Amino acid sequence: EHQGHEFVVSSSIGVSLYPDDGADIDALLKNADVAMYKAKESGRNSVRFYSGTMRLRSLERLELESGLRHALDREELELHYQPKLCLKTRQIIGVEALVRWEHPDYGNIPPDRFVPLAEECGLITQLGEWVLNTACRQAKKWQDRYGQRISVAVNLSSQQFFQSDVANAVFQALFEASLMPSLLQLELTESILMHDIQETIDTMTQLKDSGIALVMDDFGTGYSSLSYLQRFPLDALKIDRSFVMDLEHNKDDAVICSTIIAMAHHLGLKVVAEGVETHAQLGFMSDHGCDQIQGYLISKP
Ligand code: C2E
Ligand code: MG
Ligand code: MG
Repeated sequence: EHQGHEFVVSSSIGVSLYPDDGADIDALLKNADVAMYKAKESGRNSVRFYSGTMRLRSLERLELESGLRHALDREELELHYQPKLCLKTRQIIGVEALVRWEHPDYGNIPPDRFVPLAEECGLITQLGEWVLNTACRQAKKWQDRYGQRISVAVNLSSQQFFQSDVANAVFQALFEASLMPSLLQLELTESILMHDIQETIDTMTQLKDSGIALVMDDFGTGYSSLSYLQRFPLDALKIDRSFVMDLEHNKDDAVICSTIIAMAHHLGLKVVAEGVETHAQLGFMSDHGCDQIQGYLISKP
């Protein structure tokens, strides 16, 4: 106890054994270190013994991490765009930018694998800014060429949202691309709820006031606190693909989808259904007044 506060110390222990895990002190310490990180990853306050597969994993990880550092300079990243269809007008009204990494040795690495890595190794701000800049420039090109108002949606990791001055980065990207803020949408996930609520609201309000639309991605999968729906200055909710996938066969999923749509509309929010793959799913969304859909039925990214 210190000045009335109680402090609790936990420990994570990695163990390596001579001679199997190393012939000298350096090798043993290094492998014990690898095992200790494993112990931390698996929830802290635990013990892990070193194993050969750990080493392979950590090597692959190290390689990916250093690869990611160079991926930006070497232009190995690209954005693919997936259209969003307005169900009322049956027109494409926007696209979502999805990042891709074409690794010279490993081929195409999906964002689910390298975005978390970028978050862990402190590269998410740089990666996120590249995505923002590239997407804004592309949106501007489409606007100049086709004269249409196709908005572009960019995914923001919650780490990126808090690690840097995200509003500043967004305004900078818009300015450099000469893009109207109303053509940019930002997709956030419910994990931003893990942070200071007032700070979150302040940043969101700053973005929203400039004319940018804010969308809650993967709605229904996260921390399901409904109070934030009124408190956050959101424009739309995206129904997570996991609810859309089986709605033809699973009554519960169908009920969840129609309830999300009704609730969102009562709160003055638009609704986007993601992962729509069949005509039946499109029909369901149309019948229940969902505003927009996105998915392989319309187009892959
Ligand atoms: P998300 O934002 O929820 O994006 C939707 C994901 O579902 C995309 O996967 C998309 O390709 C996929 N998808 C779309 N329609 C269908 C469909 O009809 N069927 C199926 N099976 N899948 C569909 P992707 O591109 O692999 O991205 C995965 C996640 O990675 C994204 O989920 C997003 O959270 C994250 N991500 C992607 N790009 C970025 C980025 O630039 N920055 C950040 N921070 N995260 C990103
Ligand atoms: Mg998204
Ligand atoms: Mg999603």
